[in-house]
Amino acid sequence: YWIAESIKDTKFEDVYDLGKELGRGATSVVHKCCVKGTDQAWAVKIMDKRVELKTIVTEIGILLKLNHPNIVRMKEVFETLDHDYIVLELVTGSELFERIITQEYYSEEQAATAIRDIITGVEYLHNHDVVHRDLKPENILYESLSLNSKLKIADFGLSTIVSGKVALTTVCGTPGYCAPEVLKGEKYFKSCDMWSVGVIAYILLCGYEPFYAENEATMFKKILKGDYKFDSPWWDDVSDNAKDLVRKLLVVDPKKRLTPAAALKHVWVTGMANKKTHKD
Ligand code: ADP
Ligand code: MG
Repeated sequence: YWIAESIKDTKFEDVYDLGKELGRGATSVVHKCCVKGTDQAWAVKIMDKRVELKTIVTEIGILLKLNHPNIVRMKEVFETLDHDYIVLELVTGSELFERIITQEYYSEEQAATAIRDIITGVEYLHNHDVVHRDLKPENILYESLSLNSKLKIADFGLSTIVSGKVALTTVCGTPGYCAPEVLKGEKYFKSCDMWSVGVIAYILLCGYEPFYAENEATMFKKILKGDYKFDSPWWDDVSDNAKDLVRKLLVVDPKKRLTPAAALKHVWVTGMANKKTHKD
């Protein structure tokens, strides 16, 4: 079984040259890397070790086989005593977050296209029983700098595996995007990802967060109640269909939230996004 072999015998440094830093998160740093002696470029996510990879080889096998245009592909993994190395498809178009900041807000067509890409990726993950749990603009990357670039979901997989095997005490990384049932520490299911999609859709349409508050305690209260508004004047010119989608995603009861399949059929997603087609 080659994955197990690669974990056991080969070192990352034997196969790749490490390049410049591309980004970082709480427990990881992502670098560009190149297969030695070639110009084949990849990204490598170097993570502080949280669990023995060898013990989760089957699940890694599943992740390595995931193959979808809206998901950052994983190529292989290596481990040392204190780090995991995950080799990933390199994307070069920056984070959704960065485009939100530079553009302030998206046109509805752009927003619907972005949301359609994200939901398409989420649907694929869910169909393979992978729950992302940390969908937010920093974890959604443009494939290239072109205006028509596809979005790809990054930063999934190992955290899901880890949480499946090991009881995590931290409920989530970023409360602003976190579903009420996750905040409450209840058992939660795939539908928590669709709450995050609702938060992202809201931000794309108005430029600010739905549950923004001065402190975390107030933010938590708002999230648990699903207490958000379409404030005037920021929402005055947003279409009713767009608001309807946000309303059907930011639903406190996870069972009543739209599924990816239903959301992809929503009239705002089909109507707006299909006006614009990707150049593949
Ligand atoms: P963390 O789990 O620590 O948040 P991420 O997987 O989100 O780590 O990666 C951190 C940052 O690195 C991302 O926000 C992004 O800017 C960059 N990054 C991650 N994966 C890639 C990739 N495949 N190609 C290019 N940049 C990436
Ligand atoms: Mg991240």
